[in-house]
Amino acid sequence: MAWRCSGRTNADLIKNMHTARIITTDRVDEAMTKVDRANYVMHKSEAYEDSPQSIGHGATISAPHMHAHAIEHLLDYLGPGKRVLDVGSGSGYLCAVFHHLVPGGVVVGIDHIPELVDWSKGNLIRDGLGSALHKGEIVTVTGDGRQGYTDLAKYDAIHVGAAAPTIPQELVDQLKSPGRMFIPVGTFAQQIMQVDKDENGKVTKKNLMGVMYVPLTDAERQRRGY
Ligand code: SAH
Repeated sequence: MAWRCSGRTNADLIKNMHTARIITTDRVDEAMTKVDRANYVMHKSEAYEDSPQSIGHGATISAPHMHAHAIEHLLDYLGPGKRVLDVGSGSGYLCAVFHHLVPGGVVVGIDHIPELVDWSKGNLIRDGLGSALHKGEIVTVTGDGRQGYTDLAKYDAIHVGAAAPTIPQELVDQLKSPGRMFIPVGTFAQQIMQVDKDENGKVTKKNLMGVMYVPLTDAERQRRGY
């Protein structure tokens, strides 16, 4: 059903994903409804297409159905006061949705392309989240997300929006016990891995689905076109 959920409006897009059971919970529906994807794309005419779209600098905003899958899988770790790290935050779209799911908590978005970090801030402000930025409820950082972001660690949930060749240990270390990470892994063939750390610190990994993401890489390589 993925890719078939395009709508004429943001509400339409979300409704179609709910009907297709890509969104299965009202919490995810409500949080995604609050975030107008038109504020996070370069071409507003494509905002409600269920496809990834270029946002420049070798990056893409992920398809809405992939955002929905990621949020659904992390949902048990999102709630009041929780702390989330979004690695490869790109457009800032997921930072906005996560923010609505962690009232009183903190969402950190990290991307290694400073132009994208600046653009994402503008997007969040246009989407009405200027005060969340101001209050530090959403924090945007320029840096290598493979190292995580120790200043605000540890995190209840970590989302990675680019495919890593292997799971970075730094990110596993920055997960709380319990905590969960959603991360695409692989070079040619990629899989979403769900990495769970239980209350005793025991880590387990589960393969969720095959995907195609841009690589989690060096800024230099990304600018050269990989
Ligand atoms: N999830 C975002 C962007 C997905 S594209 C969205 O939907 O808008 C993947 C992003 O990962 C790009 O913005 C790219 O710049 C970033 N990225 C790739 N390697 C990275 C690294 N090592 N550190 C931080 N960000 C990285």
